[in-house]
Amino acid sequence: MTNAISIESVSKTYDGGVRALQHVSFDVFENEVFGLVGPDGAGKSTLFNILTSLILPEEGKISMLGYDVVKDYKEIRRMIGYLPGTFSLYPDLTVQENLEFFAVMYESSIRANMRLISPIWKQLMPFKDRKAGKLSGGMKQKLALCCALIHRPHILFLDEPTTGVDPVSRKEFWDILRSIKSQGITVVVSTPYMDEATRCDRIAMIQEGVIFKIDTPANIVQQFQGHLYSFKSENIFSLLQVMESCPLNCIYYPYGESCHIVFYDDISTALPSFQDFMQQNGQTILEIIPIEPSVEDCFIEIVKKAE
Ligand code: ADP
Repeated sequence: MTNAISIESVSKTYDGGVRALQHVSFDVFENEVFGLVGPDGAGKSTLFNILTSLILPEEGKISMLGYDVVKDYKEIRRMIGYLPGTFSLYPDLTVQENLEFFAVMYESSIRANMRLISPIWKQLMPFKDRKAGKLSGGMKQKLALCCALIHRPHILFLDEPTTGVDPVSRKEFWDILRSIKSQGITVVVSTPYMDEATRCDRIAMIQEGVIFKIDTPANIVQQFQGHLYSFKSENIFSLLQVMESCPLNCIYYPYGESCHIVFYDDISTALPSFQDFMQQNGQTILEIIPIEPSVEDCFIEIVKKAE
């Protein structure tokens, strides 16, 4: 595998002392869809702003396609496309005008890159004369993506492109990202949605500025330790309070309308012990079933175990 990006021990502290990134190191391979997955405030945008040469790291080194991100920022900017987390287009220009503007800026042309952008452009065509500011959230993101691709970048960065986008458009957006990859472009994307992680070839999990896992989603799920169960209760709030004094070797967390629990001891004794404990403390478990872990379960498990 050839590296498109090598990140070595990058740290960033903002004025005021917030340590947004702490010794972040990982590689992104050429032509993969690489996901940076973590909750709000984890440091994803800070890392993207450093990778796209918009802010400087406090320490560390980043090599991208053979260039140094700090020293060779001019070359880097020509070779990358960036879809930032906030709407970055001209709201008073139409869809077509925005795209033409970015094509001229990058000394490129819509026609020369039609093959690359056509899956997105086809969806935008019915709105081509609409002002960008009047598009729906999903359509705004598709236009922004078109504009970020108009110079055929080697690497495309997308910072939380599906935040605030409806589920159908989110799915369409990820299909588009896969098609961009199939045309030879490396895609680096951040998301707070763990379910989207499975659409990436590899992911890095980040929390409080620290990368704590890098692997394929399938490997991460496979490495899950313990026995995972899902259960429901009549009163999840009082159940969580009771769980605080549970003597078993387990971790637990609310998950939608259910609660997930991971047992680390022999399940043939751990499960009955748990049920006895609940009964002794006046809790009614409606159902408890073994389940396969999701990437979100893996994320929570690793973070909770570290705590
Ligand atoms: P994410 O994109 O994962 O939500 P960010 O990189 O935006 O995370 O933020 C990481 C941390 O740095 C947060 O605690 C955030 O409040 C802080 N932060 C981000 N930008 C600034 C800034 N310009 N000045 C001070 N603190 C910042």
